[in-house]
Amino acid sequence: MSDTLTRRDLLRTGAVLAGAAAAGLSADPTASAQQAAAPRSAGGPLAIISGGKVAEITKAMDLLRAGGDPLDAAIEAVAMVEANPSDHTVGLGGLPNEDGVVELDASVMHGPTHKAGAVAALRNIRHPSRVAALVMRRTDHVLLVGDGALRFARAHGFPEEELLTDEARRIWLDWKERHSDDDDWLPPATAPAEDRSTTRPRGQSRVDWREAFTYGTVNCLALTASGDLGGVTTTSGLSYKIAGRVGDSPIIGAGLYVDNQIGAAGSTGRGEANLQNCSSFAIVELIGRGMSPEEACLAQLRRVAGRSERRLLDATGRPTFGLVYYAISKDGRFGAASITAGPEFTVHDGRTARVLESAGLYPKA
Ligand code: ASP
Repeated sequence: MSDTLTRRDLLRTGAVLAGAAAAGLSADPTASAQQAAAPRSAGGPLAIISGGKVAEITKAMDLLRAGGDPLDAAIEAVAMVEANPSDHTVGLGGLPNEDGVVELDASVMHGPTHKAGAVAALRNIRHPSRVAALVMRRTDHVLLVGDGALRFARAHGFPEEELLTDEARRIWLDWKERHSDDDDWLPPATAPAEDRSTTRPRGQSRVDWREAFTYGTVNCLALTASGDLGGVTTTSGLSYKIAGRVGDSPIIGAGLYVDNQIGAAGSTGRGEANLQNCSSFAIVELIGRGMSPEEACLAQLRRVAGRSERRLLDATGRPTFGLVYYAISKDGRFGAASITAGPEFTVHDGRTARVLESAGLYPKA
C-alpha cells in the first residue's frame, strides 16, 4: 500500500465520513473537546496492550466494566508492569542509561478532554505514568522533564527509591564490560565470552544486537462502552542511552496519540523513528481517513521505512531496527503491526483476553 492517499482510500474515506455523519459524528477535525466528549458510535469496551499481558489487560477491562475512566484503566494496567522488577523495560527494574542510572519516560492522553501529560528523564519514581497523569490533571503544562519532574512527583508524595535492581545492574555491568574492546572495563576472567543474552555475540552487527536487546516499552489503549478513549505509554527507554536522551514515549503525537472522535495509537521500538515521523498522530489521522487500525499501522511503518537513513537499512532496504504500532478505533476495531510480523499484543473485548501476533511489513523469518 502506498503511503499517499489513493483513490480507493478517498472513496473509503468518503464512505466513512458518510457513515460518521449518519452516526452523528462530526467530520470536522477542529470540533471542540466538549463535542468530542459526547458519547457517539461506541464500540467498547475494548483494551489493548503491547506484549503478552493477560493479567494487565484484564485489570484494565475490570475497571472499564465498572464504569471507570479509560485513561485510569490504561494507567492501572501499565502500573502493574512498572511495579514488576523482572520486567526490564519500564519502571522498577528498567534497564538504565550508559551511566547505570534508570531514567523513565511516560505520557498519557485523555480522549474526553483532549488533555495530555508527560514526564521525561524522570529518576527514582517507579510510576512515571501516574506522575504524567498528574501533570495533565494538576498543572497547566503537558511535559515536565528531569529534576523538575522529580520535584513535581515529590510534591505529590510519590516515594523516591532506587530503581536499578541487582539484576538490571548486572545486565548493565555486563554490557559495560563487553560492548567495546577499546576501554578499560573487563568482564570477569572466568566468564564465558558469550554467556548472556545481553552480550553482543561475535559477528552480530551492533545494530542487530541493539535491536534485539535494548528496546522495550508498554503501551495501553482503552475504549469505554460509551466511546471514550484513553491511552498511556511508559518506558525506561533505550537501554544504555546517553544520559538525558528522551525517546518518543513522552512525546504526544510520537509515542502516543488519542483523538476521542477517531481512535488512539501508540508505539514501542525505536523512538527516534517516531520522533522523526510523528507516528502515533499519523496513525490516528489515517484511521480518521478510513483505514482500519491495522492498515493505518502498516501504512505508517511503510512511511517510516521509506524515510530511514541508509545506515539503518540492510542491503535489501529493510529497516534493521524494531518498531511496533498498536491502534484502536472509536468504533471498536483494533490492530497492531511491526516491521517484522510477530511481536505479541493482548486485547480484551469485554468477553475474553487474547494474546495475538502483530501483522508485519515483512513476514516472520
Ligand atoms: N520507544 C522507546 C524509546 O525509544 C523504547 C522502546 O520501545 O523500546 O525510548
